[in-house]
Amino acid sequence: MRSSEMTADDKRREPASEHIDVSVLVIGAGGAGARTAIELAERGVDDVLVLGKRNHGDAHTTWARGGINGALGTRDPEDSWAIHAADTLNEGHFVNDPNKVETVTKQMPDRLRELDEWGMDFSRTDGGDIDQRFFGAQSFRRTAFAGDHTGESMLNTLVDRAQELEIPYRENVMITKLLSDGDQLHGAAGFDMESGDLLLFNAGTVVLAAGGYAATYNRHTSRDDENNGDGPALAYAAGAELMDMEFVQFHPTGMAVDENDPEWEPWSGRLVTEAVRGEGGRLFNADGERFMERYSPDQMELDARDVVARAIAEEVANGRGTDNGGVYLDLSHRDRAFIRERLPRMYERFQKLGVDMASEPVEVAPTAHYGMGGVAVDRYGETSVDGLYAIGETMAGVHGANRLGGNSLAETVAFGAVAGEQIAQRVDGPGTVPTRLVRSVAEPHFGDLSEMADRDGEYDVMAVFTEIQDLMWNHAGILRDTETLEAGLDRLAEVRQQTKEMRVGPMTADSFEFAVDIGFMITIAESVLRGALQRTESRGAHYRRDYPEIDSDFQKNIYFEMADLGGMTSHTEPVGTPSPAVQEALDEGHELDYHQLE
Ligand SMILES: Cc1cc2nc3c(=O)[nH]c(=O)nc-3n(C[C@H](O)[C@H](O)[C@H](O)COP(=O)(O)OP(=O)(O)OC[C@H]3O[C@@H](n4cnc5c(N)ncnc54)[C@H](O)[C@@H]3O)c2cc1C
Repeated sequence: MRSSEMTADDKRREPASEHIDVSVLVIGAGGAGARTAIELAERGVDDVLVLGKRNHGDAHTTWARGGINGALGTRDPEDSWAIHAADTLNEGHFVNDPNKVETVTKQMPDRLRELDEWGMDFSRTDGGDIDQRFFGAQSFRRTAFAGDHTGESMLNTLVDRAQELEIPYRENVMITKLLSDGDQLHGAAGFDMESGDLLLFNAGTVVLAAGGYAATYNRHTSRDDENNGDGPALAYAAGAELMDMEFVQFHPTGMAVDENDPEWEPWSGRLVTEAVRGEGGRLFNADGERFMERYSPDQMELDARDVVARAIAEEVANGRGTDNGGVYLDLSHRDRAFIRERLPRMYERFQKLGVDMASEPVEVAPTAHYGMGGVAVDRYGETSVDGLYAIGETMAGVHGANRLGGNSLAETVAFGAVAGEQIAQRVDGPGTVPTRLVRSVAEPHFGDLSEMADRDGEYDVMAVFTEIQDLMWNHAGILRDTETLEAGLDRLAEVRQQTKEMRVGPMTADSFEFAVDIGFMITIAESVLRGALQRTESRGAHYRRDYPEIDSDFQKNIYFEMADLGGMTSHTEPVGTPSPAVQEALDEGHELDYHQLE
């Protein structure tokens, strides 16, 4: 067809360069994706493809250091899966889905033993058992760990196992759209980030294991190019529901730096381990006041993450913060040898940056760490769209209003196994994207991608990306109220306009990846802002200055979905009831001990 003969509609269509047929497509190669693929392969489903945006073995999971929970009872034999579940519900302020919590906590002892069998280098007791310690708030020591590299060790183990099982993996692919008719999933569309080729996957079952959304905030603990909300946003656009997006965990002590200083800027938001406070670190505001005396005179710096994060945010908001928007964390009353021995990595990191922890304080501020919300799924990880599963950090339901440290790695392997088992029972060969969907959804989408690459607008991609992150921090951060949240939604509408006028660049450029992410981040921002506005109470990590108390009538989950004519709608549903075993553990009244910071 000559271009003069093309209609406007034709111009927007573009065919895929490559068609890939597969029974199960696993989007994401972190802990969750790898574990699902292993379960499928072990159950005889060999037509599986795992893909990720990075090289094989490189996913955000490698950044988890502290540990992974499971009631093995190595150190505390009285621990049990039911007490683990009770702790999780307590910390989640009872808006977790008790079914999913039970699934994870019941599975975990077996999942840990299996990782051990597959070669994970767990730290061990003198007797050779998998060692366990406290991590954050728990009633018993149940966090297993591999030195300070638990996530890396776990993912290496899973990758080795996947290779033994000859599970195919494809690197550097970004999925940009799921192909569904709203009720049934048929495949996915994306592009090869190295060649720029447009890819169409025919797959009857798709597992989204694409991570979370904490990096939609400007100060965060994730890598910049991960956790931008791809998973939840892809599911939402395909017709699935999101849930509890307003619950975002802020770690109290991220690095607060001069963002204009190129040496410091990459460190913005990076974790300053809780162990600094555990070893006696004291927090001071810019006026030299040990402000935790006002917020938590008994627990002081060792109170729960959300309490300390809120206290720091209040100090900064009230003009008592440092120029870099933080406060001081001081360990200089300890001697150098002690700091070097107990906190070697922290000591070295700051030493390299010219700050001597033994003689001066470091600057810290809260940092977005984990999104407890995500895709709404059933007990097997399946969404309301037939054939679409969401697991790991992409799914919602396990953590409620606040996450227990060590529970997210647990969720990846537990739900990987559960979803894999369920999918193995239903798979019957590769799916096919119906021609009408190829014509009406996939090809126009590829056309849009090509048009975006050619776009030469007024706005720089990274400037828009940062604008959204700033918006999230300023309008949906730690201290929320009606006015700020509503202003955030207004601002979001303006930013949405800017995205239509971005200078993007070719599909192989970083700017193209970030431009696609911007689209995902807008969905995330809207759902977080709307959820935070709708939840007129304070619960767990969600704090409303204008509704500072918990409201028992709000023991509900908020669901978001796309309306028929576009636009986001929401509704609430009450949470489920714990099983008798978990209720019994709850009635026993085990207390979470927040003083065990490691
Ligand atoms: C600094 C830090 C420390 C942590 N420490 C702990 C800890 O000690 N214990 C604990 O339990 N949890 C911890 N967590 C949380 C935990 O690491 C994560 O929740 C978990 O690793 C998530 O695993 P996942 O498999 O769901 O996703 P990820 O590991 O994030 O993997 C996502 C995968 O999806 C791919 N992907 C994403 N988008 C796309 C797309 N559009 N197309 C194609 N592929 C895509 C990515 O390339 C990647 O392969 C920590 C988190 C951070 C940030």
